[in-house]
Amino acid sequence: MSLQDLAPSYIRAIAPYQPGKPISELAREMNLEPEDIVKLASNENPLGMSPMARAAIERTLPELARYPDGNGFELKAKIAQRFGVSAGSIVLGNGSNDILELVARAFLTPADSSVYSEYAFAVYPLVVQACGSQGIEVRAVDYGHDLEAMRAAIRPDTKVVWIANPNNPTGTLARPGDLIEFLEQCPPQVLVVLDEAYTEFLPREKRSDSIQWLQRFPNLIVVRTFSKAYGLAGLRVGFGLASPEVADILNRVRQPFNVNLLAQAAACAALDDTVFLADSLRVNNEGMKQLTDAFVRLGLSFIPSCGNFVTFHCGDAAGLNRFMLQRGVIVRPLAGYRMPDSLRVSIGLPEENARFIAVLEEALGD
Ligand SMILES: *Cc1c(COP(=O)(O)O)cnc(C)c1O
Repeated sequence: MSLQDLAPSYIRAIAPYQPGKPISELAREMNLEPEDIVKLASNENPLGMSPMARAAIERTLPELARYPDGNGFELKAKIAQRFGVSAGSIVLGNGSNDILELVARAFLTPADSSVYSEYAFAVYPLVVQACGSQGIEVRAVDYGHDLEAMRAAIRPDTKVVWIANPNNPTGTLARPGDLIEFLEQCPPQVLVVLDEAYTEFLPREKRSDSIQWLQRFPNLIVVRTFSKAYGLAGLRVGFGLASPEVADILNRVRQPFNVNLLAQAAACAALDDTVFLADSLRVNNEGMKQLTDAFVRLGLSFIPSCGNFVTFHCGDAAGLNRFMLQRGVIVRPLAGYRMPDSLRVSIGLPEENARFIAVLEEALGD
């Protein structure tokens, strides 16, 4: 008898999430200098963090012996004001990943099922499985969510539907009209998690008014993060917006101090730093063009992306990934998503993108 047998079989069956390879790890493995490594594997902000967030962290450092505000009063007030919601409809998370887990833990049991799309963010099946619930994966259309098929897949025992918009790793976007139709047709007792980790990168005309929809659809949970456009991935802070009823339940299962002191201070400041956000979007747009122009020139097909990353098809992705790692370029293999001939590259600074393109050309020329 192994001690692992003490864990339920659905826990033992979990295949852990595979994160992008850290720079320090590749430096050790390949005997490279960390400065010579370009990491374009985790959709991080290549500009780093907002200077205002950094200043807030420095101001807060002397307070670290104290617990953070477990209710996140200031950050919630800031979010409430910015997005026109009440503080009672906000749940703060240790990254938005925490919010996804809270939803699963609060609502899913082994008697329930949960619906997500093929090629959707890998965390959905993970959190569903960790609760022993049955995951229902719906076939994607053109790498994006097939909302009609997802609605049709909802069963009497379905409690949560997960939608990533834009989706990671494919960068696909659902049209606002299709999302509204989905919400109208979804049974009101099924929760819909709309994960908008990349929404800030969208041009205004493509953005959904998802936060307004909360009034009409009390079963909707909108999830946002400070990890991507706001550049605070290492601090771990995100939030969920929901009806006060649902938010209350989520707040009961979270750790009392799940968002740390520095993260709360930095997130407050980051929300005010509109200049940094605008710069981030500009760098992303320019970098997206730089990369996709290169794919076209090199004859590689890619999935048009609305995020800060792009997935391209390259045949032997494992081989190309190895080639790139040996030359200090980290991108993301997608075999875990059952896309063994694709790689995902995050948009970097112009010189980082150029380095990736140069190594790609070298690989194709070999
Ligand atoms: C990156 C990402 C997240 C979560 O990131 P956190 O750092 O935990 O906030 C959530 N959803 C999607 C689709 C993502 O790509």
